[in-house]
Amino acid sequence: MTTARRAADDPRRRIPGTDSLLADLRLADAARRLGHGVVKEAVHTAQRRARGGEIPPEAVADLATALLPRTAGTLRPVLNATGVVLHTNLGRAPLSAAAVEAVQAASGYVDVEFDTESGTRARRGRGTLAALRAVVPRAEEVHVVNNGAAALVLAATVLAAGREIVVSRGELIEIGDGFRLPDLLVSTGAQLREVGTTNRTHLDDYRRAIGPRTGFLLKIHPSNFRVEGFTSSVSVADLATLGPPVVADIGSGLLTADPVLPEEPDADDWLAQGADLVTASGDKLLGGPQAGLLLGTREVVDALRAHPLARALRVDKLTLAALEATLLGPRPPAFTFLHADAQELRARAEELARRLTARQIPAGAVPSDGIVGGGGAPGVGLPGWAVRLPSGYTQALRAGEPCVVGRAERGHCLLDLRCVPAERDGELAGAVLRASTVVEAEHAGGRSAAERRGEAERRGAAEQRGEAEQRSEAERRGAGSQERGQAACE
Ligand SMILES: *Cc1c(COP(=O)(O)O)cnc(C)c1O
Repeated sequence: MTTARRAADDPRRRIPGTDSLLADLRLADAARRLGHGVVKEAVHTAQRRARGGEIPPEAVADLATALLPRTAGTLRPVLNATGVVLHTNLGRAPLSAAAVEAVQAASGYVDVEFDTESGTRARRGRGTLAALRAVVPRAEEVHVVNNGAAALVLAATVLAAGREIVVSRGELIEIGDGFRLPDLLVSTGAQLREVGTTNRTHLDDYRRAIGPRTGFLLKIHPSNFRVEGFTSSVSVADLATLGPPVVADIGSGLLTADPVLPEEPDADDWLAQGADLVTASGDKLLGGPQAGLLLGTREVVDALRAHPLARALRVDKLTLAALEATLLGPRPPAFTFLHADAQELRARAEELARRLTARQIPAGAVPSDGIVGGGGAPGVGLPGWAVRLPSGYTQALRAGEPCVVGRAERGHCLLDLRCVPAERDGELAGAVLRASTVVEAEHAGGRSAAERRGEAERRGAAEQRGEAEQRSEAERRGAGSQERGQAACE
């Protein structure tokens, strides 16, 4: 064989060029939708895999199409199987369908600050503020900023810059990722006047600290830990008897009481006890977008709103839209997940385990305690159920599509169903089946990455088709064992 002949036989010569790939209808369409750069990157990756011999040249266009992201952004949707309702690393509260719709409607030009009747300027976000006042009528006035931390910064700046904030040593908390509320407060130019001890603070401690330099008394709900034993703290009602304004940070965002979380304070109650201002997050138990809610007396809230810093902490129209829909619309997912019925979770876990076992995947249904998370209701376990898999699944499921984030616990991978919408159980089963080929291959070794990917995709798709067709349980069981050997046939 001549050298020239050998070169002509080289399959790599048949790898399509970038321009011809970009002319493929699917990829051209994607370039219009997602932008040129994103599509080009997918094309280059596919070409590289073909050059490396992972896929045949004919498969390059298909692979490039499969590699395209769903959106022009890099944020990757995740199935939250951690059992943590408000997982800060996973974006805290998922928005309700009503909120998503409202965001969509607000995404273009919108009358966020405009009166369409008179054609003149109007109060920004007036609908959202009215909704918040309607849910907590006890608040004379309300305001919304970027997040809970911003609400505190605004309060400290306006009410205590150059003066003192009197606060209990037991309430100086770190809220996560190294951010500490005391540092945040001091950054405004206010000074902290710490009173009491870590475990006990009395009304007299506050009383003795009050003087001409006092800006306000601060009550912080220690939302992410619990001090037990010999403890005491002072209620908002008692603080309100001392004279200076009382600012109370509930953090968790409960606007009214929830019997599932008896120890979480709510805005209505703390206002009733006499707080001049209550601050809270929008994306914790309220279940809405990231936001900082300020509820209080007209005098205090008006002063905050009039300060120049308020402009820097202003929320955008998308936040206002999502927050209003969360306040007025149906209960958001975070509420549903928090109140999920343990028996229903059990039935789903058992059904999923049955389906997976039928495909020879070592799955079982086990009790699993979820938590509120996001710095809410520490120590409150939410009894629920999970599907238990071998530990290798944890990583394989994260690498899959959709990305499933489970919990690694005592040498197992737990998929807690609390925060997985029931209608997505089929998708979850599909993801586990796809992951099973990766997990098995890691045990067996041998097969190429491309083969594994191909089989994973076929098996997952087959599982989801099965779901859509509502095949009978008997059929599924019968097909189970064969399918694992010959998934390629589907
Ligand atoms: C979460 C929390 C904050 C911070 O709120 P973000 O919305 O995350 O900025 C402040 N205080 C308390 C008590 C919290 O729990």
